[in-house]
Amino acid sequence: MKTRAQWNASRQNLTDFLEIGDEVDESIMWYFVKVLPPACYRSDLIQIGEPYDFKGGAETFMTIRKMGSSWIYAGCCHVGHSDEPGANYLDFLAAYQAKSHAAAGITPATMAAAAEYSEADEVRDAAKKADKPITQLACACCGGVTRGRQWFNQDRGYGICGDCIAWLRKPKSDTGPARESEGYIRDCYGIEGKHFNVA
Ligand SMILES: [Zn+2]
Repeated sequence: MKTRAQWNASRQNLTDFLEIGDEVDESIMWYFVKVLPPACYRSDLIQIGEPYDFKGGAETFMTIRKMGSSWIYAGCCHVGHSDEPGANYLDFLAAYQAKSHAAAGITPATMAAAAEYSEADEVRDAAKKADKPITQLACACCGGVTRGRQWFNQDRGYGICGDCIAWLRKPKSDTGPARESEGYIRDCYGIEGKHFNVA
């Protein structure tokens, strides 16, 4: 978080001291409010009342916007806006996330390791799910008895029978799409031949 005391010590202009995505402390937030009557003063957006530049046909003002309970510097934006002219919200969000990750000690390497870990985890889990033995299951749809492997997304002891799967795949009307998509069937009931409709 950037503080008023750091800014004073830096002897920089505020526009040089702050980078887009920086969290500012309360005292900088109050500076935005009080240095001049603000150009915009909302519960989620404050803009210093002196134009910084003229861009894209209108004046721009130094802007902070609220993200959760924090005030984040968003650059020099048109009145009522929190993206710099020509920039978009995703750029701002990326800058903000990079800075908040850095502040929390999360490096890009940590993020990559986390992504890799969860991927490896998923593969392991999928293998575990597929390896469950074929057992007798209650059909979650009609209550009948069927055989299959437990799918993680069904309550223990529940699966789906062949008749009910066939029904879910039938169109609601002559011309309409299937009652449920294959994606939905996969999410709810697992893989055909493995979890339901087993040989
Ligand atoms: Zn059934």
